[in-house]
Amino acid sequence: MTTNHTSLNRGFVSLVGAGPGDPDLLTVKGHRVIQQADVVVYDRLVSPEILALASPETEMIYVGKQLDFHCVPQDQINQILVDKAQVGKHVVRLKGGDSFIFGRGGEELEELANYGIKYEVVPGITAAAGATAYAGIPLTHRDHAQSVQFITGHVQKDGREIKWPSLAQSNNTLVFYMGLKQSGYISDKLITHGLAADTPCAIIENGTRKEQRVLTSSLANLPVVAKSAQSPALIVIGSVTTLSESLQWFNQE
Ligand code: SAH
Repeated sequence: MTTNHTSLNRGFVSLVGAGPGDPDLLTVKGHRVIQQADVVVYDRLVSPEILALASPETEMIYVGKQLDFHCVPQDQINQILVDKAQVGKHVVRLKGGDSFIFGRGGEELEELANYGIKYEVVPGITAAAGATAYAGIPLTHRDHAQSVQFITGHVQKDGREIKWPSLAQSNNTLVFYMGLKQSGYISDKLITHGLAADTPCAIIENGTRKEQRVLTSSLANLPVVAKSAQSPALIVIGSVTTLSESLQWFNQE
């Protein structure tokens, strides 16, 4: 068994990944710390069933963000965590997926460390792992892909250009988070750098949730298919996506 933090809980932050959607994908440790929390600070993509695990006395603070619209700016979120911990609360910072994968978990811990606040990290199943598992797409497969890369779809917004030649490899699986709006740019760049225009792709919308949809496409046609997809969605590029047709098991009749 893992250590129980009850004695350390005063002024302590647990950074917890809630998983991608299906509430049953929360870890046992995540479940336990949510039940122990004095305060839960949570994001938009956390399932209501997971929030319901908190005790009725727990203070619930929503700091959800939507694309292009930050409800609560990051520095204010950091401040909430610091303020609550400094008055001796056990704070659970609850995020969708895994906090260290495009979740700003590192930034929040840096802030806690600056204030000398103690913390722990409880990993979660990141969308790339959860959504592909439920879509029947193995991220690697000896006959298809020897590597996998997770990439932010905010490719232009961040102003730091992606190294496209290293991504445009046929035996590599690419998973773009937050990529729907940039799918035209992503498709163009990969084709320009040598990835075949007929490379198979999948968009997994609402991965692991009851409403999950898997849309398949070629790389060239990706922007067209992306227009009919809704957030949250992942773009998966590579020949492993063809396995979905035979391996998908979720939401089947
Ligand atoms: N920390 C999270 C990612 C946050 S970025 C994680 O580890 O999963 C938010 C992006 O994650 C969304 O724009 C989408 O691309 C992806 N995402 C999150 N949940 C998803 C889901 N259930 N299905 C598909 N994509 C999802």
